[in-house]
Amino acid sequence: MKKLKVAIDGPAGSGKSTVARLVAQALGYLYVDTGAMYRAVTLAALRAGVPLGDEEALGRLAARINIDLKPLPDGGQAVFLDGEEVTQAIRSPEVNGAVSQVAKVYGVRRVLSRRQQELGALGGVVMDGRDIGTVVLPQAEVKVFLTASLEERTRRRLKELRDRGFTLTENEVREEVLRRDREDAGRALAPLKPAPDAIVLDTSNLTPEEATARIVALVRERAGNSV
Ligand code: C5P
Repeated sequence: MKKLKVAIDGPAGSGKSTVARLVAQALGYLYVDTGAMYRAVTLAALRAGVPLGDEEALGRLAARINIDLKPLPDGGQAVFLDGEEVTQAIRSPEVNGAVSQVAKVYGVRRVLSRRQQELGALGGVVMDGRDIGTVVLPQAEVKVFLTASLEERTRRRLKELRDRGFTLTENEVREEVLRRDREDAGRALAPLKPAPDAIVLDTSNLTPEEATARIVALVRERAGNSV
């Protein structure tokens, strides 16, 4: 069967990463978490003390650092920044708080979008992010935009952060989710929005397995029809 490009976009906590990983596993496709790349640039900027308002310096930094994504046996993805594993470090509240500011910078997006396009060029890839269906892989055969209610997204983020040992209140997490969505959807470049031909899937009342099954069925149907 033909190997397709699958774009999965959506706001924070919509279940993208979990579902994209499971879809890739079910199909034997490569999973690419593009948010991890923006997070790695953000971590590098915080560590180097680059002011988040200095767009030129952020663009130069993105072009200079080396970000590697390595598939893990469980279908996940380990992230390396200049050879150092940062898979956990990029999920900290500090990175959460700064990443949207870094992600709106043209020079950063240009470097990362190109990398993402190279990774997706051959097909057989499930890529998750904010602008995959609209900008990075507009020719993707399957585009899904995942949503979920604010309450559900807050609950998921809270659990994820608590599982990682961070102690945050529900209110703090809700505010962070809302703020990040506002910044991601409101920016001029590659804003968070469904592609016109994306299928919108509300995951509020779906388990990750149920959402995965729907997307896998869609991919199989499209792959069967395109030879
Ligand atoms: O998906 P995740 O929450 O890890 O993404 C972190 C941030 O990276 C997002 O809030 C957004 O600012 C940025 N991002 C982006 N474009 C993508 C993926 C992520 O701007 N394709």
